[in-house]
Amino acid sequence: MSFQDKSIQCADCGTTFTFTAKEQEFFQSKGYTNEPKRCPECRASRKERQGNGGYRSSGSGYSARRQMFPATCAQCGKDTQVPFEPREGRPVYCSDCYSAVRPSR
Ligand SMILES: [Zn+2]
Ligand SMILES: [Zn+2]
Repeated sequence: MSFQDKSIQCADCGTTFTFTAKEQEFFQSKGYTNEPKRCPECRASRKERQGNGGYRSSGSGYSARRQMFPATCAQCGKDTQVPFEPREGRPVYCSDCYSAVRPSR
């Protein structure tokens, strides 16, 4: 298998960048079938922007390092832990009820 350097136009800024043979090899070794659509700079800046708000995955996405606070579920009364400090007047749900109460997207 041999690869050749390839010129690709960045979908974000329009710059033509080189998808090098080495990178193609790397991509293939990772099992990626798509070519990169963005130049390295745009990829880096996208990564930076996506770095923080990673709270999208529902269900098993809790990181073990997050500080947890004991709370009582407002729905079923079960003792649970929540990743934020419970405030008075704000209902807290266990993970089961939370997913039931929240409309899933
Ligand atoms: Zn770009
Ligand atoms: Zn509950």
